[in-house]
Amino acid sequence: MMKRVILGFMGIHVLHHASKGEVTGKFMMEELGRHGYKTSPGTIYPLLHRMEDMGLLRSRTEVRNGRRVRLYRATPKGERLLEEAKERIRELCTEILGE
Ligand SMILES: [Zn+2]
Repeated sequence: MMKRVILGFMGIHVLHHASKGEVTGKFMMEELGRHGYKTSPGTIYPLLHRMEDMGLLRSRTEVRNGRRVRLYRATPKGERLLEEAKERIRELCTEILGE
């Protein structure tokens, strides 16, 4: 339960994209930036590592243009957490924005 609270909006956003396909730290920084969140490698990479430690993401490395890139994908556990989060977000939105 605590872990879910700690995950926060950024983590939920990462799970959303990582459940649809593989994501990189760079992609997530650009994506969060597009939504108005200012992030840096110093925040996004520790978040991705933490989520992998929690078993929500798994990663693999690939060489792209001669550089090693780490790709993250949601695990079944991550997808379950995302579904729970969606329910909570739906509830919250209904209450805040009105029925
Ligand atoms: Zn997004």
